[in-house]
Amino acid sequence: GAATMQQELLFKVLVIGDLGVGKTSIIKRYVHQIFSQHYRATIGVDFALKVLQWNNDTVIRLQLWDIAGQERYGNMTRVYYREAVGALVVFDVTRASTFDAVLKWKDDLDSKVTLNHGRPVPAVLLANKCDQLAPQQPKLDSFCRENGFVGWFETSAKVREGRHRILNTKGSEDKQQC
Ligand code: GDP
Ligand code: MG
Repeated sequence: GAATMQQELLFKVLVIGDLGVGKTSIIKRYVHQIFSQHYRATIGVDFALKVLQWNNDTVIRLQLWDIAGQERYGNMTRVYYREAVGALVVFDVTRASTFDAVLKWKDDLDSKVTLNHGRPVPAVLLANKCDQLAPQQPKLDSFCRENGFVGWFETSAKVREGRHRILNTKGSEDKQQC
């Protein structure tokens, strides 16, 4: 048979936000299709790999970086952020203090890493635990616009459902499975 050449792209994506917002749960849901109520605080930095067959020629390996324990201190080292090409900034819709912390995380990110030519690393806001609270998109639209987020998703690691909007595209609000 014909030998096909596939290119493999590796992307480092950070998952940041306050303790308990659901970072680990989102990664587990996305990569392993599981959810657990049990709180398990891992120590150190955890990696998860999501392999996506992007098209016939391209495989994307998403390396998701989970912080574990260190989010207590509200910032990470430059080493952790190094060579990231994207970030998910997560808050818990049931805890206002975790939303207040979103800008602190975004500042930490922007001050410690950039893409080539100094462009900011694209960051998407995740409003997690949306199974617990009614939709809140008007607030998030303007918040993302004003604070340099690419867009937002409402997520639930528990029920796998949510809404999202990516700014600067023609796409309107969608209800879809995460
Ligand atoms: P992390 O500290 O940011 O990694 O947060 P975890 O992933 O450990 O989650 C903290 C707690 O929130 C755990 O008890 C999870 O089961 C719970 N949790 C995470 N995501 C959701 C969600 O979408 N909905 C609900 N109801 N609970 C969630
Ligand atoms: Mg965690």
